[in-house]
Order: sequence, then C-alpha cells, then structure tokens
Amino acid sequence: MIKRRRIFITGRVQGVGFRPRVYRLAVRLRLSGFVYNDTKGVTIELQGEEERIAEFLTRLQADDKPPLAEIKSCKTIDIAMVGGEKDFTIKASKSEGPALSEVTADIATCKDCLLELADEGDFRYGYPFINCTNCGPRYSIVKNIPYDRPNTTMSEFAMCDKCAAQYTDAADRRFHAQPVACASCGPGIRLTDSKGNLINKETQGSIAEAARLLLDGQIVAIKGIGGFHLAVDALNDKAVQRLRERKRRDNKPFAMMADSIERIKEYAIVSKSAEQVLQSPQSPVVLLPKKGNCSIAPSVAEGVDSYGFMLCYAPLHFLLFAQDLKVLVMTSGNISDEPLICKDEEAMQRLGCVADAFLIHDREIYRQVDDSIVHFIDGQAVLLRRARGYVPTPIFWGENCKEDIFAAGADMKNTFCFGKQNQLICSEHIGDLEDARVYHHYINSIKHLRKLFEVEPKVAACDLHPQYLSTQYAFSIPGVRLVQVQHHWAHIASVLAEHGQAGPAIGIACDGTGYGTDGAIWGCECLIASLDDFERFGHLDYYSLAGGDRASKEAIRSVMGLLKKTYGDDFNLEKFRWLLERIETDENKQQIILEQIEKRVNTFETSSLGRVFDAVAAMLGLGRYNHFEAQLPMALEAIAAADVEDRYEFEMFSPPDEPCRFGLGQTVRQLISDVQNEVDVGIISAKFHNTISEILLGFAVVCRSETDLNTVALSGGVFCNRYLTNRLVKLLKKNDFSVLFNKVVPSNDGGISLGQAAIAARRS
Ligand SMILES: [Zn+2]
Ligand SMILES: [Zn+2]
Repeated sequence: MIKRRRIFITGRVQGVGFRPRVYRLAVRLRLSGFVYNDTKGVTIELQGEEERIAEFLTRLQADDKPPLAEIKSCKTIDIAMVGGEKDFTIKASKSEGPALSEVTADIATCKDCLLELADEGDFRYGYPFINCTNCGPRYSIVKNIPYDRPNTTMSEFAMCDKCAAQYTDAADRRFHAQPVACASCGPGIRLTDSKGNLINKETQGSIAEAARLLLDGQIVAIKGIGGFHLAVDALNDKAVQRLRERKRRDNKPFAMMADSIERIKEYAIVSKSAEQVLQSPQSPVVLLPKKGNCSIAPSVAEGVDSYGFMLCYAPLHFLLFAQDLKVLVMTSGNISDEPLICKDEEAMQRLGCVADAFLIHDREIYRQVDDSIVHFIDGQAVLLRRARGYVPTPIFWGENCKEDIFAAGADMKNTFCFGKQNQLICSEHIGDLEDARVYHHYINSIKHLRKLFEVEPKVAACDLHPQYLSTQYAFSIPGVRLVQVQHHWAHIASVLAEHGQAGPAIGIACDGTGYGTDGAIWGCECLIASLDDFERFGHLDYYSLAGGDRASKEAIRSVMGLLKKTYGDDFNLEKFRWLLERIETDENKQQIILEQIEKRVNTFETSSLGRVFDAVAAMLGLGRYNHFEAQLPMALEAIAAADVEDRYEFEMFSPPDEPCRFGLGQTVRQLISDVQNEVDVGIISAKFHNTISEILLGFAVVCRSETDLNTVALSGGVFCNRYLTNRLVKLLKKNDFSVLFNKVVPSNDGGISLGQAAIAARRS
C-alpha cells in the first residue's frame, strides 16, 4: 500500500553526511519526498510502498547511517499523500537561527575505500588520497565556509571527468565529497632528504623507499592528515633513542601505529571496548596495558604501564605498512611542546635537524590537528586529548545559549569553546599558552573557528586567575560581557554539561593548580556545584609551596611543604637528610626553600593534590622533576601494586561555618616510616592511592549527610590517574552514589573551556 510518512530524527545528524545518505537510500528504494535540516535535527517525508518505507527506516538506523551519525530519537507519523511527486530532493535548511555548520571532523579511511585502495581493477588502486563522503580529511583542509571545494585546500586540483562524475552523482558514495581525487587529477607524494632534496618524486616509489629507510632505523617525517608525524621503527631502541634526543623530548611516552588489531595485541592487552575505539572512524591513540616481555623498544614508553597505540587512519599509512612495517613510533612533528607542524616549508626548517627524510604530499593542511588520545575509566572510553576525529563536532546540549559565547579555557592544555544555540563547540587541544608559538596558534585558532561556525560572541568566559594569558585575552575582547569562572567550578561544570545536567551535585575536583576565590591555589576540592553557582564544601588542608611556578616541576618543593606541614617546628633538615638527599642533593637549596616557607617569601598556600603525588613519587625515588606534566604522578601510578587493600590514616577537621578539611599528617608520617623500613614501593604507592580515594569518598559521604545530594561529579587532571579513579568510582558506587565523570572532554584542563561555556550560557 502506498503511504506518506513524516519522520523526525534527532541526535548527531547534521554535518555528518546524513542528508546525502537519506537521499541515496530513498532513491534506491524508489521513494519520493524530501529531507531537510531544522533546528531540532532532520525532517524527512517519504512516499511510496509501505514496506519500502519500513525498510528505509530499518536500514537508516542500522548499517546505512553515516559513520559519524548518532540517532537519538526517530518518530514517524502518517500524513496525507502528495499528488504528482516523482523525485526525492534535499531541501534547504529550515532554521529559526543561522544555519548550523557543515564542517565535520577528519575521519579515518572507511572500509569501502580500503577495498578500492587494494583493488587492482579500481582506478584509485594504491592511491594515497582516496576518500569518500564517509571518510577522509575535512576540518584540517577547510579554509572558509560554506564547506565547498573552492574553500578547501583541494581547490587547486581540478577534478578529472571520472572524479567529477562521482562528485555530482547524488547516488554515488562520493556525492559532494569535497576532497575527491585520483592519481590523474589529485595530489601526489614525494620523498626528500632532510634538506628538501628530492630522493623520489613518484608516489609508489616514494612510499616504498620511505618504508626501507624506516626499516633501516632512519627517522622519517610523514605528512599526514592533521600535520607531520615523526616516524621511526618502534622495535629499534637505538633509533627511538635518537629520535628522543633530536626531538628534545625527555621520557614522554611516544604514540605508536600499527595496521591491525592482531599486531597491537602482540604488544598490549586489547579489551573488546578498546578494539572498538581503535577501529572507530575517529581512530584515536588508545592507551593500552603493556604486555610483559614484548619487543617494543624500551625507550618508547618508560615509567608508565601503558602503550599508546593507534591504527592506520590515512590511506598513506596503509600503503606504507603494506611494505612489511610492523609497528612505528608516530609522534607529533614538533619540537618539545610547540604546536604541531603542518606546512611543508616550516617542517623542513624546523624538523630538518630531527628527520632523516621527508615523505610529503602536495595537499596543503590548513589546520594542524593532533591525534586524539583515549583511555578507559570504569570500563568506559574517556578522552584524554580531544583533537583529530572529534573536533569540530559540537557537543549538543539540552539548553540553549541565548547569545553567542566564547570561553577562553585555561592556560595549560588549553582548549577554547564557543557556545551557539544548543551547541557547545570545543576547539582541539591547543597546548600550553606560555609558549609563544602556542599562544600565537591560540589566537589564530579562535579567529578560524569563529569564522567556520559564524559565532559573534556577546559573552566571554574565562578563569579567575589574573595572570592567565587566556584570562587576559578574554579581557581584551571589545564589547563583550565577561564571566569569570573559578577553575574547579569550571571542571565540575564540564562534567555536568556533558551529561546534560544542571546540578547541584557534589563536585570533587582534583588537580595541580587552580586559582581560588581566597587567593590560595586550590587543587583538592569538594564543591556543591551547579551550572549557576557553587559553594566550597571542603578541601585538602593547606600546605605551603615555595618557588612559584617551579613548584610544579621540582618535587623537592612539595616534599618540603608537606614535611613542614606535618612536623611543624619538629621539622629540621638534619633529621630528614636521608630522605631529602634522594630528591635534592644541593643542601643549600633545601635550606633556602625551608626559609622561604618559614618566612612566607615567594610562597603560596595550596590544597594541590597533584603536588602531593609529585612529593610521594619523589620520596619513593621515582624521580625528582616533572619534565612533562604529571610525569611523577604517572610514574607513581605505574608502580602501584595490584590487590593491596591497605591504606594510611588521615585526619578530618570540620570547623563550624567553614569548609571541612582533610589532613595528610598521619599519611605522611606512616608513609615515611614505610619508606624508612624499605617496604616495597609498589605497596606504598597502592596504599597512598587507596588513602586518597578514601579521603575523596569521605568528602562525598560528609557532603551527602549535610545536603542530601547523591550525585558525585569527578573532574580535574588527577582523575587521569586510572588506579585512583577506578577505585574511587567503585567506592562511590558501593556507597550508592551516582557517579559522573568526563568522557567527551578531558578531565584535565582541556575540559575547562566547556565548563566555562556552560556556566556562561546560563547567564546569557
Ligand atoms: Zn571512504
Ligand atoms: Zn580524478
């Protein structure tokens, strides 16, 4: 029977190739009607045989939906037939406000394209830039909107007839796939030496030659989707060490790439859910537990218990690995923590001293986007760095921003965020703003995303910290209303916002540093927080940190602060010489730090939990310096023994009319006595982690008893610690709390901008 149905679909259905897919499916099933985007999602009208409409709906919700689409709801109603309708059409968007952006994230090569890549009969056989509507570069090649070929870096390549025919055929998989190309019309690959002299100018030859260099232990800079990677054979320790030295990257673990799950399983433990994330269209780096005695070069990832692996995600990667490569280090093409390099000329200039050869192509990367990083908390995939594959996909929110919003983020691991209608659009990982190049990149990125999403901010949200560059930037924007948001409140708001909640909830925020409303540096906080307001319910008892910013690098400073706090006037350097000398050999420096604390010179009061982890790691002899953020806490987590239930004692103070406080006096005393008695460091580490999770549970329990709140929101960089977070989540659930933690934005400062934006939106 012939019917006409109207279908309303909500979810992530815009800017993900949904309408062309609907179109193709409708045409294939010989249904007439139309599809259009509106402010709530997508509306479709279908007319035709009833069974075909039913088949349409089944297929759209199963295999035939675009890889990035996510259907939240699908409602259908029968409506009156329309006479004389023959075709199915894509209609213009119906929106009350400005149209939503069509720019989507960069997506890993899809299965269909991989089949063609390997098919000798296909005219794109072995072509390293094969892509279609379901895969390939997007965000990294878009210069401007609307998202059309002339506004991408593909504009300089005129399509050949074959490509153009597919591009214009609405029934084709490449219909309006902007980067469509083939060997006869699109970009090619060449191999040069470190000075830019051509080694091979032919695509297939260059790939084969690059693979030979890699197998030979050479470092090859490979131009990919979001920028350059520095690649080296991950099984060759000498080669990896050479890369480390040249890149000036002390000990920070390198990410690796392989071409199959089976290969990764030789080196790491891959759970079912990890397998899914590795193979997802976003194709992030996934942190996986190391397998013992595997052949990965030790210097790839020292002092941590996991490897970061990703699968090949660009056609070039697949072609390269087809040349007998097993596993490659694929680390960001930059020097230490500067922005990723994506332009050929800059790569030659700045990476010429690192790479032995360059495998480059002539499709310009307009925007650098790092690889994203995922790990697992409580069995769920959680983003540690949100970039390629995820950005600029908006986070759809239950609420509406009445005005456009800009949120400046924090200075470390910066991201920024725009609020527009019901979308919160977070930038990719930008980096640490104190680096001048990163700051420059920050300013340019804000301009670019503003243009892509047509945002005109009327409100700017930023941190409370007056010295943050992001705060100062927000203050410099003319004609906007400013909303300053306390750091840990923003952390908790980021969790609430991504779970579509407004609070209030019990917020537990733990990190290294965040400017507090009392001028102290906060870092272990229990807040009663909603998107509208927060109250500081409790915190870790303050201790003193001397030396300003250096305190986050040099563990001796937090050790001295905690010892002084614990032993008070009983503390003297002589008594603790045995312990201190393993952290700082310069006795003069120890003396100066102690005097600074005693006289309160260049010293601040802090509840930082991150620094406590530094101190404990240093006391256990795991290092004395954070060469990169959280190096010492990561080393401490890595050695924690399994199956230890023991913990240390701690104190709780609950003065009337003041936030409650937990103190680590007994913890420090007992831990030091364990160190002195040469208890196994793995056991000490576990006992310490257990203590902290018990303290954080304590916050929640006391807070619930006084407020009746039962939802706990966890956020802050400390919750990147899997041992701690897994244990805490388990404890909270056992005590009947409902627990929320960050999944779609990082729990570290990369999530701050989302929280700021959500808070500002409620005030817009
Ligand atoms: Zn494809
Ligand atoms: Zn072509």
